[in-house]
This record gives sequence, C-alpha cells and structure tokens, in this order.
Amino acid sequence: ASSEQESEITIIGGGPGGYVAALEAAKQGADVTVIEKEELGGTCLNWGCIPTKALVRSAEVYTNLKEAEQFGCRAEEVDFEWSEIIERKNNIVTQLTNGISSLLDKHNIEVISGTAELVDETTVLAVKEDEKIVINTEEIILATGSQPVEIPIVEQGAEDYLLYSRQALDLDELPEEMVIIGGGVIGLEFAFIFSRLDLDVTVIEYLDEVLSFLDTDVIDEITAAAKEEGIDIYTGAEAQQITTTADEQALVKFKEAGKEKYITAEKVLMAVGRKPDLGGLDVEEVGVEIDENSGGIKVDEKMQTTIDNIYAIGDVTGKTQLAHAASHQGIVAVKNILGTEEKMNYNAIPTAIFTAPEIASVGLTEAEAEAENKDIAVGKFPVAANGKDLTLGETRGFIKIIADAKTDQVLGGAIIGPHATDLITEVTLAVTNELSTAEVIETIHAHPTSAESIHEAALAVRPEGALHY
Ligand code: FAD
Repeated sequence: ASSEQESEITIIGGGPGGYVAALEAAKQGADVTVIEKEELGGTCLNWGCIPTKALVRSAEVYTNLKEAEQFGCRAEEVDFEWSEIIERKNNIVTQLTNGISSLLDKHNIEVISGTAELVDETTVLAVKEDEKIVINTEEIILATGSQPVEIPIVEQGAEDYLLYSRQALDLDELPEEMVIIGGGVIGLEFAFIFSRLDLDVTVIEYLDEVLSFLDTDVIDEITAAAKEEGIDIYTGAEAQQITTTADEQALVKFKEAGKEKYITAEKVLMAVGRKPDLGGLDVEEVGVEIDENSGGIKVDEKMQTTIDNIYAIGDVTGKTQLAHAASHQGIVAVKNILGTEEKMNYNAIPTAIFTAPEIASVGLTEAEAEAENKDIAVGKFPVAANGKDLTLGETRGFIKIIADAKTDQVLGGAIIGPHATDLITEVTLAVTNELSTAEVIETIHAHPTSAESIHEAALAVRPEGALHY
C-alpha cells in the first residue's frame, strides 16, 4: 500500500537530536513528522547514555555494599544477579522511551515507525513493512546518528567473542574476563562497570593516554583510580589481531613499546570510536555535501546543510558525539527554520564521563588554552579537603577552574570526583555567560556540598588562594 501526506518539517531519526527538534518545532506551532526505524530515543536512550548509567548505578550499589564496613554498616553475602541488573536497566529504558512517545503524541507530532529514504529536496519516503508513505515536506532535518567504528583485526571465528557497546548492554551472562579495545569515554565507562562487577578487565589504548582529550592531571587521577580498581590499562598499545584459542577464548594480539603481546579473554569489547551514520540515505544524490574529514554531513553554524531546506543535527554531523549537543543543535536548527536566526556555539558543551570517580569538563583545557597562547590562571581544590565529600567517603579528585589571567573570565574547568557530572553545570553556566571567577566567588554556595569546591577553586585562581586549603 502507498499513501501520500504533507508535512512542514520532516525529521529523520528519533534520537535526542531528532525528538528534541520535533518537540521544539511543535511547541512553536509547526506541523512535524518524525520517522524512526528502530526505537524513539535513539542510541542515547536505548543503547547509550541511559542504559550504561543504569549499569553504572548497579555496579556502584554493589561496590557500596561491599564497602559497607567503611561506613559502620554490615552487609553479608553481598552478591548481584546480572539478569536482574539487565531487567532493571530495560525497565528504565522502556519507561523513558514510552515517556517520549507520549510527549510527541501530546504535541501532535506524527511518528512513523519505518525507514526513511530521501527522494529529493522536498520528498521523503517512509518505508514500513508493506507500506510506503510519500511525505511532501517543506523542510527536512537529518538526525540519523552514528555507528561504532570497526577495525579489521578480527579473524574468522573470533566474531563470536566480539562485542560492541550495544551487545555489551545485553549480555546473557557475564564473562570472567573482558578485554576492552579503546580507552575513550565508552571504553572506560564499561571498564569501570565490569570491573566493579568483579570481571578481570584489561583496556588496550592506542594513544599514549586514556581519555586523551583531557588535561594530564585529570588523566593521571583516573588512571590511578582505574589501577586501584584493578583495571589493567595498556597505553601506546596497538591491538593488531583477534583470534581464538583451543580452549574457546579470544586471543588478542597487541603491540606495546615495540613488543608483541598476547592476552586471552572470554569477551572482547570493541570501543574504538563512532562514526557518522547516514542511515542509508543517499544525501549526496540530492546535493547534501559530506565533510571529508569527519565523514559527517557538512553543516554551517545554523545547522543548515549545503541544501537550503535541509538541516542536519547530532552525531551525523561529525561535530560532537554527545546527546545534549545533539538536542541543542536540534533547537538551533528549528529556530533557524522557523525564522529566528541562531548560531550553534561549541565553546561550552560539557563532557560527562561516568567512571568512578566521575569526570566532567567544559570549555578550554589547560593544554588548549596554552596552545592558543592564552595567559591563564588556574585554581585547583582537592576533593579530600571538602567536608561533604569526606562524609560521602570520597577522597579522590579535584576541581579545577581555568581563567583568563587578565580579564578573570572563566574559560573552562574540569572536575574529577563525586557528582562531577552534575557539578559541571555551574562551570558551564560561567563559561557560557562569560562570567568571571569574581562572580563565581560572590555566589554563595550551600554548605556542606561538593559544589563548595567550585567556589574554592575559583578562589584558588588568585594568589591569595582557597580558604580551606
Ligand atoms: P541517535 O541517538 O543515534 O539517533 C539516531 C536515530 O536515527 C536512531 O534511532 C536510528 O534508528 C534512526 N535512523 C537512522 N537512519 C534512519 C532512517 N533512514 N530512517 C529512520 N530512522 C533512522 N552521550 C552523552 O551525552 N552522555 C552519555 O552518557 C553518553 N553515553 C553513551 C554511551 C554509549 C555506549 C554510546 C554508544 C553513546 C553514548 N553517548 C552519550 C552518545 C549519545 O548516545 C549520542 O551522542 C546521541 O545518541 C546522538 O543523538 P542523535 O540524535 O544524533 O543520534
């Protein structure tokens, strides 16, 4: 069967880019259609941000129970049931995706479950099982996301031992050992989850550091935490081949410091990065250009592609790979479509990493500020000197504020420690609004809170230093 319908804005992909754009557009009165081939919520809600954080939490509760004595409490025969952890995770995901579905419904957004094809600049085809819907549309937003990068090192037979993040979230049972190839955000989050659930975890990272986009002091701190957790990390190590052993294990060959090494494991998680996913759309056919460096869809600051009425947002643009960036890009695209000119600003997009302890950063790192020849002043305050953090039983980490030495403007910050991913919002507010450390200092921070360390780090930017350190 085939039918035809009209839409003002057609959005391809219902992830945090696409569904947020849809909500924003509908709120502004536009007539919106969203086409999603898998599940609303996209990677983030179904196989990314949310399910991983559900596992992080289970691993944390289990760890806390094991460490109960430290808090004067007793927990005996501490154990966990992986299938129940997965069930809890699935329930959270279902609750959220159902929530999005009813939100879209409430705003009269038409959702088509099907695969979209781009016919021409103003025509999208949505293909359901035995149904084809032709959508004549004024504007199109491409929000098809990303896919894991595969590296050709897997020999025949070894595929059975190989996982990508999506499969790692739905393992039937936990292996005893796991090798994780890639020490980026996804690799490290899984390393902490699985290690805290008692697996032997080894991370193999090609670059000289894990999480190499962060400042060295942050990397040193998380590397020390990983070591204490029992995670083996090889850096400057190139995974070269995955084969199998006679006793049904994966055998990973890698090169470290010029030497060939081997490690066996029940499972190998490949987490070497993600690349833009065009979702099978023939974008170039309609004149939408691809950025050669990133492989993503070329967009300007308004999120407009090389075709006027076609916009692209989220991971498919190859700009960032963060859910909140995708959502913000979606809002920027919609505003431009509906007549309010707005530019996407990439200077203050926070990063949140759910390791133990958590890490978050925003704005310039020290290294980036130095590379830009900026005259900076840095203030740092240790977690161990914060009263609230001590009551939490947390002593590892610090908060760092990077300011312009002349203007006092907050240029960036990094946090490693308890609640880092929540705390970063204050620094983000400062960077976004070009606040000075003086303005952060004048702000009264509640006591006792982990956030007081932001106040202290801002004070530490000055020669007089922090109050409590
Ligand atoms: P997606 O969420 O990937 O959505 C794209 C959607 O488009 C998909 O649902 C897909 O089915 C659909 N689609 C594709 N092609 C078509 C087509 N032809 N027709 C119809 N539909 C189509 N980010 C964070 O900010 N915080 C985190 O903690 C975090 N954790 C992560 C953990 C993991 C394991 C992974 C993999 C990612 C994580 N991310 C995290 C990244 C985050 O998931 C992505 O940045 C975000 O999902 C990008 O949103 P998007 O809307 O661009 O794409």
